[in-house]
Amino acid sequence: MLPVTDKVVGVDLGITDLMITSEGEKSGNPRHTRKYARKLAKAQRKLAKKKLGSSNRRKAKVKVARVHAKITDCRKDFLHKQSRRLVNENQVICVETLRIKNMIKNPKLAKHIADASWGELTRQIEYKSNWGGRTFVAIDQWFPSSKRCSCCGYIAGKMSLNVRSWTCPECATVLDRDCNAAENIKRQGMSLIAFGEHVSGIGPVPVSCSR
Ligand SMILES: [Zn+2]
Repeated sequence: MLPVTDKVVGVDLGITDLMITSEGEKSGNPRHTRKYARKLAKAQRKLAKKKLGSSNRRKAKVKVARVHAKITDCRKDFLHKQSRRLVNENQVICVETLRIKNMIKNPKLAKHIADASWGELTRQIEYKSNWGGRTFVAIDQWFPSSKRCSCCGYIAGKMSLNVRSWTCPECATVLDRDCNAAENIKRQGMSLIAFGEHVSGIGPVPVSCSR
């Protein structure tokens, strides 16, 4: 069990930044796959040239497997660090999970998402929350997380993906697209907790939360 804190966090999952929190923290997204892509391609080319059944082929195969393992290790390490920090620092962690399902249906985005490991990160946050006595809130209902002003509730019209920040016409707040989404996710999570829905974990929940 981790020591109780009164902090609540909303987490928006992204591609440029794997996660953006309602605290305004952006994790970055080390593209291990890209970093190792050349190494992997080289190892695979070498393997293709080796004679079937030869011992050189066996060695080349091991080399390919090693690069694959390295990629997996680096990514896992990054995800574990991120999820560990979130769970250590916050009592309640709210994550929008619906978007993962929807975006995976889009083949163009699917590769990025597989690379971004959203599913794995969410899984880690959930089980670490459960172990540490934290509350994990999965938001699996659609709500306009990017288009809703987290300050006044105004909902903007259509917004293309390249709009990174916008000014709310109602209250004139300048909103960073991702941080605003994370803040909305946090608020949505808190209202779900009030109704006792989509919540796992047994930790105590702070009664109120301030921005
Ligand atoms: Zn507003």
